[in-house]
Amino acid sequence: MSKINDPWLLLKTNLKQLRLPTMLAEFEKLSREAATADEDYPQYLLRLTEIELATRQSNALKARIKQAAFPVEKDFDTFDFAAAASLPKQKILELARCGWIDQRENVCLIGSAGTGKTHLATSLGLAACRQGRRVRFFTAASLVTLLEEKQKQYQLDRFLSTLDRADLLICDELGYLSFSRAGAELLFQVFADRYERGSLLITSNLPFSEWVQVFQGERMTAALLDRLTHHCHIFEMNGESYRFRESMKSKQTESSSGGQKRPSGSSKGRSAKNLRQIARKKTETNSEPKERQ
Ligand code: ADP
Ligand code: MG
Repeated sequence: MSKINDPWLLLKTNLKQLRLPTMLAEFEKLSREAATADEDYPQYLLRLTEIELATRQSNALKARIKQAAFPVEKDFDTFDFAAAASLPKQKILELARCGWIDQRENVCLIGSAGTGKTHLATSLGLAACRQGRRVRFFTAASLVTLLEEKQKQYQLDRFLSTLDRADLLICDELGYLSFSRAGAELLFQVFADRYERGSLLITSNLPFSEWVQVFQGERMTAALLDRLTHHCHIFEMNGESYRFRESMKSKQTESSSGGQKRPSGSSKGRSAKNLRQIARKKTETNSEPKERQ
């Protein structure tokens, strides 16, 4: 047979033209397997199309996660609900099913530093990506900086419409920084525009009563909270910092293992109170706005 009429070669060309790269890569191997297993043509074709679809879905998920730009990919499998006793586990797992995003509702996670707000926000964002939703993750500070930049470059409208396309906009760490009046107005515009049109997930160290510091002005704050909290799942995540508890645990392990790793200057061992102060300072430092967990 001339090379030009070689059916395998023609098939490869067709699969390339049809943009079916996984079928192209796999059809020879799968056809050998089908022959060995005595599969009929539809079974073979079915397996081939399944493998193409699975690869497409996995690539699309990777692209959605990349586009979301999570600071780290922290998922539910590493979230210890027992350590966040005030958090209703079933309710959170229900949110992971994304019904709230379909209803264009919001979520607010309010609480002190180190209580798992960013971790949980990311886990909910990942769950949304897995279920085919478009997600964008920003810290409040980075979003405001970007909005101001885009405005200067006369590209604000275009940027706002890309935000608009996200099914879920996550705004982390609202309240660590206060913004310029113009910055606060831009952020207000983004939040207000999503009202009943797209979901927002906001994490903040500030209770709502103190958001006036961020949005500089009671009228703007009241208008925002009115929209935000209309269809909103609010969770208070107060308590001791998880980081603090973890570092306490490791300090205790160090001292119970003979104190070999004890830092210098602590030959008598640090009292729990001292450790607590140190850890609190560390937690405060860790809550600097620019730090990404
Ligand atoms: P926040 O955003 O509230 O300041 P983070 O989500 O950044 O807190 O949590 C700080 C660190 O502690 C992260 O490494 C996070 O993964 C971890 N962490 C917090 N809460 C939990 C939890 N309940 N289970 C497991 N890890 C947690
Ligand atoms: Mg955080």
